[in-house]
Amino acid sequence: MIQKKICLLGSFSVGKTSLIRRYVDSLFSDRYLTTVGVKIDKKQLQLNGQDMTLMIWDIAGEDAFTSIRTAYLRGMAGYVIVIDGTRPQSLEVATSIHRMVQETVGDLPVAFALNKADLQQQWQLDNAQLDTLRQQGHTLIETSAKHDQGVNDLFLHLAKQFGI
Ligand code: GDP
Repeated sequence: MIQKKICLLGSFSVGKTSLIRRYVDSLFSDRYLTTVGVKIDKKQLQLNGQDMTLMIWDIAGEDAFTSIRTAYLRGMAGYVIVIDGTRPQSLEVATSIHRMVQETVGDLPVAFALNKADLQQQWQLDNAQLDTLRQQGHTLIETSAKHDQGVNDLFLHLAKQFGI
């Protein structure tokens, strides 16, 4: 059985825990879901006829700048960076995290989630910043943990980059 560790990264309250809840348990809550320490969920998927288990790591909701520790990233096969479309600052945090992770573990598969797509009329992201990410070859996947939009695609997009 192929097992891959992936980490959910991003600023505080962007929806990391909610995306995992939606993906693993098909559930959503409007409340803030407190993560204590590190929580690891498992999800099985099939890719090209092969079974794969994703070990999905979520970390306590303090700001990602301080919470990304080398121990958390160790052994990961790839990661998801979550941006909250309604909070432009979360895009800046995402860019910094991306740079920081690259400096720590090198180039690994990554998927970017533009989350809270159900609130798209309230989105206020900087298009130039988004284009910069796209020009670097990244796919930005619009997701809503609330409305179950794009969530499977997000994890699948990451898993496909594992080249199985
Ligand atoms: P985390 O700190 O990044 O793990 O964020 P949470 O998963 O705890 O979510 C923070 C808040 O955003 C909670 O109130 C969630 O209900 C809400 N939230 C998460 N995803 C979505 C979404 O796709 N749409 C909307 N409208 N709210 C969301």
